[in-house]
Amino acid sequence: VTDDAFTRVVEGRELRDRDIRAVLETGPDEVGRLAGQAAEIKQRRFGNRLQLCAIINAKSGRCSEDCSFCAQSGHYATEAPVHGFVGPERIGLAAGRAVAGGVARFGIVTSGKMPDRREVAEMAKGIEAVRRAGAVADVSPGILPPEDIALLKAAGLAGYHHNLETSRRFFPEVCSTHGYEEDVQAVRDAVASGLHVCSGGIFGIGETWEDRVELALTLKELGVHSVPVNFLQPIPGTPCGGRPLLEPWEALKIVALLRFLLPDRHIRICGGREAVFGRDKRLLLASGASGLMVGDYLTTRGASLDSDLAELAGAGLVLDRTSGE
Ligand code: SF4
Repeated sequence: VTDDAFTRVVEGRELRDRDIRAVLETGPDEVGRLAGQAAEIKQRRFGNRLQLCAIINAKSGRCSEDCSFCAQSGHYATEAPVHGFVGPERIGLAAGRAVAGGVARFGIVTSGKMPDRREVAEMAKGIEAVRRAGAVADVSPGILPPEDIALLKAAGLAGYHHNLETSRRFFPEVCSTHGYEEDVQAVRDAVASGLHVCSGGIFGIGETWEDRVELALTLKELGVHSVPVNFLQPIPGTPCGGRPLLEPWEALKIVALLRFLLPDRHIRICGGREAVFGRDKRLLLASGASGLMVGDYLTTRGASLDSDLAELAGAGLVLDRTSGE
């Protein structure tokens, strides 16, 4: 029974281990109730607003890293697009389309562990193009050292996105080419720089519920502002290619768990939601999330913006056109 946990969150108190256990013990038949409580927590903090963000895959493929779920890793044979940096014109056009659809934040995403100097300079031009299009400019460039953060901030960068992906315990089974602490340090540097920091993970890659809790608590401790939630969409050719999709109730429970553990942070539903929930996403949208990524993802297609907007209205949610900071 999660009533104690719900009351504690609503009263602004920390969850105890037994409260977290109560959330974890929620079975498929009780997830609707849990999701309702998570939605109530979200409602108290964010009202019935939902913020939209969108991204452009500005540089794709040939990544040096071997993340087990990722279509863009150069270690696996996948059908993901491979291209160099797309340039500010394409970025500006894509940002303009997103703004017309109600998107507040627009992210420039590049594959690779860390951008080189030329890519950082290109990114700065892309940031200016996003701002000219009327969106708040974010980047997802891999690991960005403090001097590059400063350079991009000077170009108008508002937010930095870098996922921890999973728990510290499970990460070595997900990626062998860099260590968890490098990602944690990148997030720490970005928080220290004053940027809006978006950091979350991918679920359904073989992690346990304890890993999910550990990830959430790490993100909380780091002070990230926003937590993107991705559900694995298995990509043929990657080590996770044969994994089953999450059951919808498990995905709902993940969102609810994050809302209980991170009651005052944005929780954004991103990749994999169509694969897990099919066409009907109203329940997911009413389960504690305060943000939604719309349009296409990095290597998989998303639903049309029109269908997302219709579902938002159907779920009684209204668009938050502010930057959410
Ligand atoms: S998740 Fe990022 S770092 Fe890992 S393989 Fe994919 S693009 Fe590279």
